[in-house]
Formats: sequence, structure tokens, C-alpha cells
Amino acid sequence: MRHISGAWHRTAAGAGLIGSDGTIHPTIFAEMSALAARTGAINLGQGFPDEDGPAAVLEAAREAIASGANQYPPGRGIPALREAIAAHQRRFYDLRPDPDTDVLVTAGATEALAATLLALVDGPDDEVVVFEPHYDAYAALVALAGARLVTVPLRWPDFQPDLEELAAAVSDRTRVILVNDPHNPTGTVFAAGVRDEIVRLADRHDAIIVTDEVYEHLVFGDRHVPIATLPGAAGRTLSISSAGKTFSTTGWKIGWVTGPADLVDAVLAVKQFLTYVNGSPFQPAIAVGLGLDDGFFAGAASALRHKRDVLGDGLRAAGFAVSTPAGSYFSVADAAAVGAVDAHAFCRELPDRAGVVAVPLTAFTSPQRRSEYATLVRFAACKRVDVLEEASRRLSALA
Ligand code: PMP
Ligand code: GLN
Repeated sequence: MRHISGAWHRTAAGAGLIGSDGTIHPTIFAEMSALAARTGAINLGQGFPDEDGPAAVLEAAREAIASGANQYPPGRGIPALREAIAAHQRRFYDLRPDPDTDVLVTAGATEALAATLLALVDGPDDEVVVFEPHYDAYAALVALAGARLVTVPLRWPDFQPDLEELAAAVSDRTRVILVNDPHNPTGTVFAAGVRDEIVRLADRHDAIIVTDEVYEHLVFGDRHVPIATLPGAAGRTLSISSAGKTFSTTGWKIGWVTGPADLVDAVLAVKQFLTYVNGSPFQPAIAVGLGLDDGFFAGAASALRHKRDVLGDGLRAAGFAVSTPAGSYFSVADAAAVGAVDAHAFCRELPDRAGVVAVPLTAFTSPQRRSEYATLVRFAACKRVDVLEEASRRLSALA
């Protein structure tokens, strides 16, 4: 293999994202989806739905292609989508971003996160505080931006942060507090006191809050509360979301950032050299989706809640201890009782033992904290009910 090196490699190797010899690993999701394809196991690993989303959204994309929306869209996104995003923020949260200056369409939440971090952090003296376990892209993007990752642990089974540990992690070196709520991989929804403390600390240390709210509509209890709605937060918060989860269009990669115009401009400055623009026929289709009636959004949450319960019952019957997620696609199970010692090894063996694929929580944690999550496994509930029932039947072989 050609020798590849550089700051990204050094930081990424330190974060355990690539081998210390520079070997580039596939992401955990790619690894586990390939394992499912190879073995024919049911894929409860990578979080993507196995059913299409609303017909009106799919039809709008077909129409857009047929009517010629196939060239570069405007850099910030087409006006109809920016207006639909602004109207969505107003309708659900009483936030009032200006669609011309405070909204940017991105290639999924992933590009929004990448462009935001590259825009806001500037080298190894800048720290980004994240909650751990965290979505795999966070550590990779912080490494790519050359900044330092500071983590606050979320512990089984409720995965709420300890407020003292949170306060200890934030300092004047903190440029960004990156909050994923509802949370992947744990399915937790942060308590109100946690959100308040994040805003207090950001204000005290003049940090920017970046929120990843891709599961905003997939909550099973009270309505989602964006941090930007808290007193004093809007002026220092960039809110990121994505159409992928809400409309079951994960492959379309339509995401967005909303927030103060100067911060959005900074993100746009980077985005224009990452993808320049993206997804022209999908943009009008997602504008249609964001305008669907309240029944659609409530229905998406209640269907997933039922799936969470089916999966949770199946896992418990198979002998796992299961946390009860309040949102997201995911449930976390402790596999110690079914023989797991190393969650990654357990997940590699699970297709043979039970014909199911899941992902280890250790893939979402830093090497130093891995032992705390050694027997925890994430299962995706965003699959058809009959698929979850069949997975439960297969997993009962472990009991
Ligand atoms: N953040 C979180 C927490 C996610 O779970 C995902 C899902 N893939 C993303 C970001 C990326 O979203 P997108 O596919 O829109 O880039
Ligand atoms: N967000 C999805 C998950 O957590 C995966 C997306 C990806 O493969 N990058 O499973």
C-alpha cells in the first residue's frame, strides 16, 4: 500500500479511526452492511429504512427530473426548499429564520457537519465538545478540521450526561459544543436541565452550539425541543437537520443548516468548495415533504415507536437487557447476558449465531473509554415490523 500520512492521519490514528499503520478501515456501517450482504443476515446494523417514504415526495422528485430540474441549483439551495425549511422551523418550533440569509441546503447532515466544523474550528488549540458515544462522523470530522475532541460520557442505561462532567469539559478553549439530540447511537433525548446547562456553558465560554437534530421528528414522548429555542441560544446556535430520516430518503442526501446569517455564511463558504451544490431534483421534493400535514409527522413517530417496542420485546425475550430509547432509529442492548465480552467480536459472530447484524457501541467511543461500552450493541428499529419479528425469532436462539 502506498504510504499516506499527514495531520489528518496522525489525528485520526490517535482517535482510533484508522490503524496506526495508516490502514483505512471502512466505517462500522459499511463493514456491518457488507457482513449482512455476505451472510444473508437481517441488517439491523446500518440505520436506514426498508420501506419508501411518502408517495407525494417520491412523485415530486420524479416530476422534477421530468421537468428539467437536473442542473446546478443555487448555492444556498432552491428558494422553494429554503422557504419550506424556514416555514417548518416556524410551524414546529416558532423559530423564524430568514430563508434568504439564515438557511443553507447541504448534501445531507454529514456535509452540514463537515462544513460547519471546517468553518468554525481552527487547529489544535480549538476544542470541540461532544457527547460519547457519538455518531462516527464526529470524531472523523473533528480530526479532519485539525481540532481537539473533548468528550462527555453518556452512561448506560439512561445515557444522560452528568452536569458536572459536562461543565468540566467546557472551557475557554471550547469553540463548539456539538449536540446530537435525539441521540445516535443511544436513542436518548436530553433532559431539559441538560439543554439549559449547554446554553449556560456556551454563553459563559463564548462557544458556538452546533445541534444535530436529524431525528427531530422521530421522538416517542414530548415534542422535540431545539436548543435554538432556549433563551439566549439562537444567536450562537447552528441547527442541522436532514430529510433522510423524516422522509425515509437517506440516499438523497438533502440536509440543511439554519442559524444566524454570519455563521451560515461561514458554512456556505466551505460548502461551496466541498460539493458546491447538491441534489437539484430532490430539493423541490423535500419542500413538498416539509409541507405535509401534521398527521404525517405524528404518524412517522408513532410507527417507529411501535417498531421500537417490537424490537425491544424481541431483544428482552432473547435475554438482552434493553434501554428504552425516547427517540431515533435505535435501541441499545446489553449483550453480556448472551455471552458478549467484546461487542465488536459479538457483532461479527451474530450472523452465524442468529442470522442478524447489529453494531457495537464501541464503534462510537474513543479508545480510552471503550471498556465502559464493551458489551453494548445498537440495533436499528427502522425496519418493517415483519422483519423485526423475524429478527426477534432468530435472536431467541441466543436465549
Ligand atoms: N447525524 C446523525 C446523528 C445521524 O444518525 C446521521 C445518519 N446517517 C447523520 C448525521 C447523517 O445524515 P445524512 O445522511 O443526512 O448526511
Ligand atoms: N446514520 C446511519 C447509522 O447511524 C448510517 C449512515 C452511514 O452509514 N454513514 O446507522
